[in-house]
Amino acid sequence: MKKTKSKTQKNARPVSKASKSSPTARGAKNSAERATAPKTAGSDPKRVRAILQKLDEDYRDVTCALVHESPFQLLISTILSAQCTDERVNKVTKILFAKYRNPKDFAYASPAELEQDIRPTGFFRNKTKSILGASRKIVDEFGGEVPRTMDKLLTLPGVARKTANVVLGTAFGIAAGVVVDTHVTRLSNRLDLSRHTDPKKIEHDLMRVIPPEKWILFSHQLIWHGRKVCRARKPRCAECNLESLCYAKDKTV
Ligand code: SF4
Repeated sequence: MKKTKSKTQKNARPVSKASKSSPTARGAKNSAERATAPKTAGSDPKRVRAILQKLDEDYRDVTCALVHESPFQLLISTILSAQCTDERVNKVTKILFAKYRNPKDFAYASPAELEQDIRPTGFFRNKTKSILGASRKIVDEFGGEVPRTMDKLLTLPGVARKTANVVLGTAFGIAAGVVVDTHVTRLSNRLDLSRHTDPKKIEHDLMRVIPPEKWILFSHQLIWHGRKVCRARKPRCAECNLESLCYAKDKTV
């Protein structure tokens, strides 16, 4: 009697030696994945230009919402803004910047007192460590001035690329990269400008498709659009002027 193959047997593919999980096989698989990785349709230059034009129509003059009077104050505000709204940060810094007037005041502040001063912004113990560490380094190694390069900014405790990009772009007008915060991450994915979730990779993707002269404004525009229209939950797609260019899965129209 003829034997019938089970479903599993029918679907089974011959297992070659190379397909076993040897380092060579994994390497070959990785390069094959790289070669066939889907290119984001969103990176089409014509489409990107259209997105930038639409953003310019609605957000021509937007800038950072953190209230500050100096690059140093912006640095402190940006550190405080992690996992906190700009609105709350501004309320806290209104009192904070009147009490601590310069990098030295912060550098030699009492950690326990500073913790209480910034407590409403959340994660206040870690933020206190970052603020004290960054301020001390600015006083001791940078003559009391916030450094103006990405490399130097990244040596400050608590400062990663997002914070450094905010300070360089907004305080100094230096376009060293693109600010990638929670809004930029979400919108870059929804607009198919990047399919990554890691901020460094998203920034890399954005730097490839957005012209450098637009990097500073573009991140502010996405942040404003994310706050006002393209919200995390229930984006207001009916009010969005990017709607005709957007094919996000969670569109609401
Ligand atoms: S159409 Fe909707 S999902 Fe797409 S960018 Fe606009 S608000 Fe966001």
